[in-house]
Amino acid sequence: MNAFVIDGFEFCRLKERREGEIAVSDFARLVEELGNKSGTLQWSLQGGADKLDHPQLTLSVSGVVQLRCQRCLAPFAFTIASESILILAKDEASADEIDDLLADDTIDVIVGSRSLDVIGLIEDEALLALPISPKHATCLDQATADALNNTKADSPFSVLKNLKK
Ligand SMILES: [Zn+2]
Repeated sequence: MNAFVIDGFEFCRLKERREGEIAVSDFARLVEELGNKSGTLQWSLQGGADKLDHPQLTLSVSGVVQLRCQRCLAPFAFTIASESILILAKDEASADEIDDLLADDTIDVIVGSRSLDVIGLIEDEALLALPISPKHATCLDQATADALNNTKADSPFSVLKNLKK
């Protein structure tokens, strides 16, 4: 996979837009968190400025990845649908300044670059969207067991009766 680098400040100034699709298997760090490498992520990056004229990127990442369930270890599909606003600061000091000024946790202030690694941004976005402790709502074996139980039970009340015996 070729590196994809933009001039962050020019991208914002010119209000450029890029979008594309990347195979999950191309994200080395992301793959480590997943049950398998299948799937693709769609992304878009829009340049612009916030109301105070700071360079601003809007990054959207979406797609379905296969997480590994921490309870039964089987993979399960998880839909990523994430959008972040990134303000580009000149350096660390002005990043802190802008962060204090905005006082908004939904906006990330990062140190911008003339050679900003877009793939890295997309991967970070995807990683942040993953649940910390992925688990099926109902694990596969449990689901099979429940299905079998349900065919025997006439109603939830008879299940309760059985439990009391
Ligand atoms: Zn499970």
